[in-house]
Amino acid sequence: MTLRVYNTLKREVEAFVPIRGKKVGLYVCGITPYDASHLGHARCYVTWDVFRRYLEFSGFDVTHIQNFTDVDDKIIHRANELKRNPSDLAQEYIDAYFEEFDQLNVKRAHQYPKVTAHIPEIIVLVKKLIQNGFAYENKGDVFFEVKKCADYGKLSRQSVDDLVKGKRIEPSENKKNPEDFALWKAAKPGEPSWESPWGKGRPGWHIECSVMSSKYLGEQFDAHGGGQDLIFPHHENEIAQSESASGKKPFVKYWLHNGFVTVKQDKMAKSLGNFLTVREALAKHSPETLRFFLISTHYRQPLDFNENALLQAKQAWGSLENALERMEEAVEEIAGNGKEEVKRKNSFSGAVDPKVEELVLGFTRAMDDDVNTPLAIALLFQLRDYAFKLLEQHAQNPDEDTKSSLVQCRTALSRLLDVLGFKPVQKELSIPVEEIRRLVEEREEARKQRDFGRADKIRRQLRERGVELEDQKDGSVRWKAIQ
Ligand SMILES: [Zn+2]
Repeated sequence: MTLRVYNTLKREVEAFVPIRGKKVGLYVCGITPYDASHLGHARCYVTWDVFRRYLEFSGFDVTHIQNFTDVDDKIIHRANELKRNPSDLAQEYIDAYFEEFDQLNVKRAHQYPKVTAHIPEIIVLVKKLIQNGFAYENKGDVFFEVKKCADYGKLSRQSVDDLVKGKRIEPSENKKNPEDFALWKAAKPGEPSWESPWGKGRPGWHIECSVMSSKYLGEQFDAHGGGQDLIFPHHENEIAQSESASGKKPFVKYWLHNGFVTVKQDKMAKSLGNFLTVREALAKHSPETLRFFLISTHYRQPLDFNENALLQAKQAWGSLENALERMEEAVEEIAGNGKEEVKRKNSFSGAVDPKVEELVLGFTRAMDDDVNTPLAIALLFQLRDYAFKLLEQHAQNPDEDTKSSLVQCRTALSRLLDVLGFKPVQKELSIPVEEIRRLVEEREEARKQRDFGRADKIRRQLRERGVELEDQKDGSVRWKAIQ
């Protein structure tokens, strides 16, 4: 099976076949940096991060571009309110974006183009649309004339009449027709502006994504991601602009949209005042808990936020992390018993464990099916259950087959967690493993001699150096790194 995705343009799930073989161009609409990012943003960027990671895992070479809308009405209004410079305000929220999304382990895009750094290219595209007869200027404003674009509405599946009746349009006295939208806005006093053939002004919202996506990915590319709220007008207008300028269709082969984060069925949004910022969420929960919560529901479904759901995510993640830690320990022990190559190669040369293979295959099938993360996660839990079974077997009878299966199971779980963007806590040891083993043996010896003072002292020494000992019911001792 190969990857299949739901393409909003076609309203169906279809095979993902990139235009240029293994090379994939992915464009994701970025934030407008005028306020803190909230969980709705986190869901969007984590969703497309998992998509990108899975493409890379499947052997695709992805170029990921994500913009910053760093000049916009919202930034200007907010800066005026706060009596601040709009570009300083935007930069502050861009810095916060990186800080927060790095914590969430969202891979950085290959480029983060900003509107303010692409004004000359934007002017070129607006000129081209005027030349091609799709746009007109009036009193320093330039509008895209929707009627000239025969298939306008194909993404959001609405006619121009629907739009006008539904009043989903921005009014302006300079427009010829109510449905037309701004490509360039004449400067207003006190706003940032740039020189252009139509006088001083600034770009409309949609034109930047047409310009920046084609600059970095070409006039036609594979995948465009964003929240469902961007289907109209933003993505509809991107298509109209790009296809009218280049004459090439389709501008984007696969249009991909993630669902909203809801709070008691309402969309989480700044305008509704019901949002939790990423920063607030990270202050209360680990990045892994948050990521687990965000991908525990299929990306196209609404995701209802509540504290209980986060608590469940915390427990679920904790149990996977615990399984991985216990397997790491067991593999460490196997490696310490003379099989150094196990640790070095992160794999095992023994026979392939059919159970591990079956579960890994199940995971890829789930992900191939329109990135079904809830099902993929369920497979990880099966891998965890199998790991516990192997650990038990290993404790009773540490034969070569069990060791081999354990190593394979550990490698599979850690690799698949990485595909979903989880970074299991790598605890740095301040003490060599050999020395831990020596001290554990010394403590065993002390206990045999009933020198409990000495045994306790060794336990304390190890704890001070970040290692906790756990005495097992069967008399053996396990150790784990603590923070
Ligand atoms: Zn965009």
